[in-house]
Amino acid sequence: MFDAVRKLYAATDAARARGYGAGRFSFNVAGGRCETCQGEGFVSVELLFLPGNYAPCPTCHGDRYNSETLEITYRDKNIAEVLALSVDDAATFLADVPAAVRSLRTLREVGLGYLPLGQPATELSGGEAQRIKLATELQRAHRGHTLYLLDEPTSGLHPADTALLLRQLHRLVDAGGRVVATGTPADIAQADESVTAPYLARRLERT
Ligand SMILES: [Zn+2]
Repeated sequence: MFDAVRKLYAATDAARARGYGAGRFSFNVAGGRCETCQGEGFVSVELLFLPGNYAPCPTCHGDRYNSETLEITYRDKNIAEVLALSVDDAATFLADVPAAVRSLRTLREVGLGYLPLGQPATELSGGEAQRIKLATELQRAHRGHTLYLLDEPTSGLHPADTALLLRQLHRLVDAGGRVVATGTPADIAQADESVTAPYLARRLERT
């Protein structure tokens, strides 16, 4: 989704006048990012006798971009301010950017409206990461045949996350699925419609 935002900034009059392309608004590559922290927003601080620690970047103060890049604004916000928006607020701010609307809607549907857009993936909780994965799948659910194997998908999740996850799984089923069989392995082995049943039955006979 951030691709769409970068293109939006590159398309502003100010960016075009300066020859800034979409890459200028990426914090992963040199050009528009802050070079002190290489777009990380923080720097590693070595403390004597203590393990390394992180502090906000003294140059960009966590904005991740250099000051020239931050001079480009879209609706009075620079790109760092957009990254600081929550998914909920971004849905309003980017309401007429079609490429962003769908991703933001899906993120809100999986209960992640409170997350800042720029939240690093490494700082997500297990439940949040799982819901983002599902949100991604839901977005491409119409792209043909896909097999999902979920192995104890709710283990380790907070009950609230489990409820949200179940809602998403039901949506995947609603998007074209049909419950063929439920129950213990012995129950599944007897299910007429299940492709898995004969294999399971053979296996159960052996044990
Ligand atoms: Zn910096």
